[in-house]
Amino acid sequence: MNKSAFYKLSYGIYIITSGKEGRFNGQIANTVFQVTSEPPTIAVSINKQNYTHEQIVASRSFAVSILEEAAPMTLIGRFGFKSGKEIDKLEGIRTRMGKTGIPIVTDHAVAFIEAEVVSEMDCGTHTIFLGRIVECDILDAVAEPMTYAYYHAVKGGKAPKNAPTYQAEQAPPKPAATAAKAARYTCTVCGYIYDPEKGDPEGNVKPGTGFEDLPAGWVCPVCGAEKDKFKKEGQVL
Ligand code: FE
Repeated sequence: MNKSAFYKLSYGIYIITSGKEGRFNGQIANTVFQVTSEPPTIAVSINKQNYTHEQIVASRSFAVSILEEAAPMTLIGRFGFKSGKEIDKLEGIRTRMGKTGIPIVTDHAVAFIEAEVVSEMDCGTHTIFLGRIVECDILDAVAEPMTYAYYHAVKGGKAPKNAPTYQAEQAPPKPAATAAKAARYTCTVCGYIYDPEKGDPEGNVKPGTGFEDLPAGWVCPVCGAEKDKFKKEGQVL
């Protein structure tokens, strides 16, 4: 079985919000799909360990914000690699209140869909929630929605450990021929790769900046980990 085949499935990148009685949370999911058009229903697969799962079970509602290609990795990292049990992920994020009383993330979103849970399926580590759509709209008619492939190829993103999608094995070390180039460093927390050739445009780090030359206080643009959490590509810890 060659599980790389799963990478050929196309997905998007979404922020799923839920919550109840003033306590709200959101998380990244790539597994959202429309199930029927009449009545309009949608499904999402959520890890049972995630705070958002607990909130969907309690409130029986969820909202989906469809992110644009330009959505920064810091936004994706905030919702994908941190737990709402530890931080208020929605603090400082633009939202609007949905019909079900759940805040919908509007920052970097091209559209949103809000749904009430009508059914669910136990899938072991995850639950698939089936929702009847109560509201949806376009937020940005011009921006392109981000696909999962774009997230991997252009943004250098990785799948969080609780994602339902296939987790790639650790990439083998690069051959020695590339050793002369400035080394790339991998975040051991989230898998983000710092590539000196690209720099970190979102963190105002110019292309050509070596990892050693990153400014003090620089942190992983995805998960916020500090520099000592990075290891040189190919290095075995
Ligand atoms: Fe990271």
